[in-house]
Amino acid sequence: MTEVADQFTEDRAGEVARISHWIDGQRVEGESGRSGAVYNPSLGVQTGEVDFASVEEIDATVKAARRAFESWRTVSLSRRTEIFFRIRKLLDEHREDIAKILTAEHGKVLSDAKGEVARGLEVIEYCCGIPELLKGGFSEQVSTGIDVYSIRQPLGVVAGITPFNFPAMVPMWMWAPAIACGNCFVLKPSEKDPSASVYTAELLKEAGLPDGVFNVVHGDKVAVDAILGHPDIAAVSFVGSTPIARYVYETGTAAGKRVQALGGAKNHMIVLPDADIDMAADAAVSGGYGSAGERCMAVSLLVAVGHAADDLVGAIQERLPKVKVGDGMDPESEMGPLVTREHRDKVASYIDRGRDEGATVVADGRETAPDGDGFWLGVSLLDNVKPEMDVYKDEIFGPVLGITRVDTYDEAVRLVNENPYGNGVAIFTRDGGVARQFQFDVKAGMVGVNVPIPVPVAYYSFGGWKNSLFGDLHIYGPEGIQFYTRGKVVTSRWPDPATSKVDLGFPQTR
Ligand code: NAD
Repeated sequence: MTEVADQFTEDRAGEVARISHWIDGQRVEGESGRSGAVYNPSLGVQTGEVDFASVEEIDATVKAARRAFESWRTVSLSRRTEIFFRIRKLLDEHREDIAKILTAEHGKVLSDAKGEVARGLEVIEYCCGIPELLKGGFSEQVSTGIDVYSIRQPLGVVAGITPFNFPAMVPMWMWAPAIACGNCFVLKPSEKDPSASVYTAELLKEAGLPDGVFNVVHGDKVAVDAILGHPDIAAVSFVGSTPIARYVYETGTAAGKRVQALGGAKNHMIVLPDADIDMAADAAVSGGYGSAGERCMAVSLLVAVGHAADDLVGAIQERLPKVKVGDGMDPESEMGPLVTREHRDKVASYIDRGRDEGATVVADGRETAPDGDGFWLGVSLLDNVKPEMDVYKDEIFGPVLGITRVDTYDEAVRLVNENPYGNGVAIFTRDGGVARQFQFDVKAGMVGVNVPIPVPVAYYSFGGWKNSLFGDLHIYGPEGIQFYTRGKVVTSRWPDPATSKVDLGFPQTR
């Protein structure tokens, strides 16, 4: 058991742990004098204090990664595969430990935390096939005696900046393909729940990953800006809110970097009149309130078409009192607290805002929140939400589900397509023809047909459209491999020197 895991498995009540960086294969205490508080959201108490990196500390980390890159890029594909199989094995053995860290700092219930680790592991499993994924093309005899082949090479030092809501899985989306492709990685995790990243770093070292290939630096805007401006960082992957995603994309690309920046979302789930209402209600409750609505793929708005609306509201209303909100370590709990007190207050404020704007408050989560100092909020449901309301427009990122009523399929699709976000979308119907037309019509990156949260499996890529993604390539899967590598095409011939002559014409291919 490592030091980080001990912190969460041993009884250290009342202790505030110091959470430090991981640079060049070891824990490094920050020297900037700046730090941030980390909480257990179920208890509402501070459990950690995380070091914030300075510009100089980011620079030292990049230097270590740069040194490691010189040898890591030469490590054979078979050796990299071997290390990835060991990483997979160790992370699998420590699933429960990682999940407990997530529950302790994020608040999500343990079963959900285990699900997060499982989905992250799928990306690592995909990366175990890196020799196949990096295979280039080869064309023999393109011209007489000339062969052409393509190869993909790593970029160098690449960085990842990640959000609070998936403290293990989203980093895995980035570091696993980046490292498998031969890059060295600098991770700047969310300062709200940073421990899972350091624990992962310890396991990667144990798996045999050379020092300096994976590094973790904690921090805030100072660290992010130092990453975006660093001349030796070739590419940046970002996942977080839309304003910061846009900023990271614009600043990083202006500094000459390759950037993929995934932003926020307002995912609509359309329920057509022919849908199975019980199935749609189950999906709406699961997709809307799972992980307390703090998922970028959460269902945040239901679009009920025609007579589906009244039945749907009734079916959801029936289910709400049964949702068990409580401490994530209690196996009975289905939904935990929100990540911070400030975020809980902000999310709760949307209930009054919705009422003031004219929406109908069907359920008010403040009335059903558990007692105690945790950052609690129960499930809320707002009916008659209109597109001009803030509760429609804003990404609330909490357990507040809205319902918008429309008369036709066309109106429902127009709402989705006019929305500035385009992450996930779902349609619930029994009509295959309409579902097929929907996947053709809709402007969003990930589409669910009777699936509320259509997160692609690891061998497809994840990403939205419009303000949900800045950059050209989606994350993980084949596009992840493309993002973390650069192509090269080699044209080669081995002629008899005796036949060599000067020819100033443009090379012909026949
Ligand atoms: P956030 O944008 O506040 O933070 C993300 C990262 O950016 C963190 O590491 C944070 O330290 C850093 N950051 C915050 N403010 C910054 C600033 N002013 N300058 C530079 N860096 C800054 O996001 P969050 O609250 O941690 O996460 C929730 C958001 O992430 C939601 O909007 C959610 O939809 C989005 N998200 C999107 C996806 C996706 O795949 N599209 C996945 C998960 C989360």
